[in-house]
Amino acid sequence: MDTVRPSRLRLSCVIPCHNEARNLRDLLPRLCETLTDCCDAWELILVDDGSRDDTAALLKICARQPGVRAIRLSRNFGKEAALTAGLTEAAGDVVVMMDADLQHDPALIPSFIAHWARGADMVYAVRERRDDEAWFKRLGVRLFYGLLNRAGRFEVPAGAGDFRLLDRHVVDALLALPERNRFMKGLYAWVGHTSVAVPYQPDERAHGRSHFPPLRLIQLALDGLTSFTTWPLRAVSAVGVMLALAAFIYGAYLTLVFFVYGHVVSGWTTIVVSLMLFAGLQLLSLGILGEYIGRIFEEVKARPLYVVRDQWGRGLPPAQE
Ligand code: UDP
Ligand code: MG
Repeated sequence: MDTVRPSRLRLSCVIPCHNEARNLRDLLPRLCETLTDCCDAWELILVDDGSRDDTAALLKICARQPGVRAIRLSRNFGKEAALTAGLTEAAGDVVVMMDADLQHDPALIPSFIAHWARGADMVYAVRERRDDEAWFKRLGVRLFYGLLNRAGRFEVPAGAGDFRLLDRHVVDALLALPERNRFMKGLYAWVGHTSVAVPYQPDERAHGRSHFPPLRLIQLALDGLTSFTTWPLRAVSAVGVMLALAAFIYGAYLTLVFFVYGHVVSGWTTIVVSLMLFAGLQLLSLGILGEYIGRIFEEVKARPLYVVRDQWGRGLPPAQE
């Protein structure tokens, strides 16, 4: 690859935080040490996403340290919005995003940087194994990526999360996307650029519980499917056409039976079952349509993605040409 990289590495590290005070106390010293070792200049952008513990107070104190910036959103807007807030503020030539809960090991950052220096625009950590997860979660993940990647021109890699390094080109491309529904895993894949996967095994969450219980994951999966695919709409039309055809053929057959054998086919059960089946299918189709219409509604309102309440500290100075 013939990519020219700047001689001095200016790196921004973005961390979304929702009730992570205890984790941040452990993570920040380790992270600052790693960043000092592997880059010429760095900034930390900590985004408080409406925490109810003392995360905001902690961030305010941390922001007194040179290179640490804290952004406090006015309420909980969700991880994707918090990440976007951090990306918008990042000034580095390279942005690393990671979680606050110590599941993403800072020790991986130097290898991300090495891949970037060799020409990769995006370097992402991919889970090596999922055998620590329940079987239904693994099945759900396979189903989701199977459905998401159907007939797309780009592929969203399964097992890749938000622990990644982005070159400035990728950050600018992501920020130029106007949509409100920011299913980040899909957006990373959509913007393209040369990407490299680095295998890793996430550690256990150090303190607290995951913010993504099964129900929230299902919601996220629906967001992903509706913002990156339209095949469910076509599938509904296809089912409609097949059913109409079947009804026509069956109707023709019954008419024939009536004229040839002269008796009316009886069958209360058949009528009730088929009524229920078709009513169910119609509601399902309406539901699928509704999912898409709901997203259109969210998009046309064009509200900002987040509202900033406070900002503390100073990050990297603007780049000199
Ligand atoms: N997070 C956030 N806003 C939210 C939920 C989560 O900023 O509404 C942050 C959270 O503080 C953490 C990261 O997103 O730094 C990942 O969250 P979590 O560890 O709960 O997700 P999981 O690792 O279970 O996917
Ligand atoms: Mg986590």
